[in-house]
Amino acid sequence: MYLTALPAFTDNYLWMIHDAAQAVVVDPGDAQVVKAALEKHSLQLALILLTHHHADHTGGVDELRAATGCQVIGPAYEKMPEPLQRVSGGEHVQALGHSFQVMDVPGHTAGHIAYYCEDFEGKPLLFCGDTLFSGGCGRLFEGTPAQMLASLDSLAALPGNTRVCCTHEYTLSNLRFARAVEPDNAVLAQYEQQCIALRANHQYTLPSSIALELEINPFLRSRLSTVKQGLIQSNALSNASQADDVACFAALREWKNIFK
Ligand code: ZN
Ligand code: FE
Repeated sequence: MYLTALPAFTDNYLWMIHDAAQAVVVDPGDAQVVKAALEKHSLQLALILLTHHHADHTGGVDELRAATGCQVIGPAYEKMPEPLQRVSGGEHVQALGHSFQVMDVPGHTAGHIAYYCEDFEGKPLLFCGDTLFSGGCGRLFEGTPAQMLASLDSLAALPGNTRVCCTHEYTLSNLRFARAVEPDNAVLAQYEQQCIALRANHQYTLPSSIALELEINPFLRSRLSTVKQGLIQSNALSNASQADDVACFAALREWKNIFK
């Protein structure tokens, strides 16, 4: 089994898993990119997995379904390119002999889901759409800060060696913000240098891992005193003594929204 990231648009990755004959693609916003990859590796598309309704994740579905007859699985509670099999948290889907658990992760969109495989070639694997990015998280277009915090908590609880397949190469800009939040985080500073070098060589910074994100991602660290300190010093959090976990997380997300 192979795991491959197909770059699309300016900064999307369409993740593909495949064996020698069949492929599964996650969030194919662009059909052409997938078709080229299938042709290159002589693969048949068996299944599309979708995390949420945004066009950069679903735009290629109709064309790929028509061209290949593949099965399509997606979130139960979002407007989706029909027909598809709808799933929600706790259900399992089978992909090329591997079982993926569906997780409800609302926040970026109201019905956003993620797919988690406990053992993909010896290590866990997560397709998290636009919920978790390396060093960041998705914007709150439809959900509340409380929902997003709970969603990120559920992802943070996965095993540390879980490979995290995020769908955007936002890492460098996320890390610039993370450094503003936690200027004294040495692991973060080192990771940023590593990612700068990767991008300079046109290499991907993904997949990440849960263990790494726990050390560098401010949105998984919003309860820590170092992050709270950053919020207070930037005036992102006005009434710090009264701010609960959700208020801190919300302030962090709002600061990121306006961070330049
Ligand atoms: Zn999105
Ligand atoms: Fe997206």
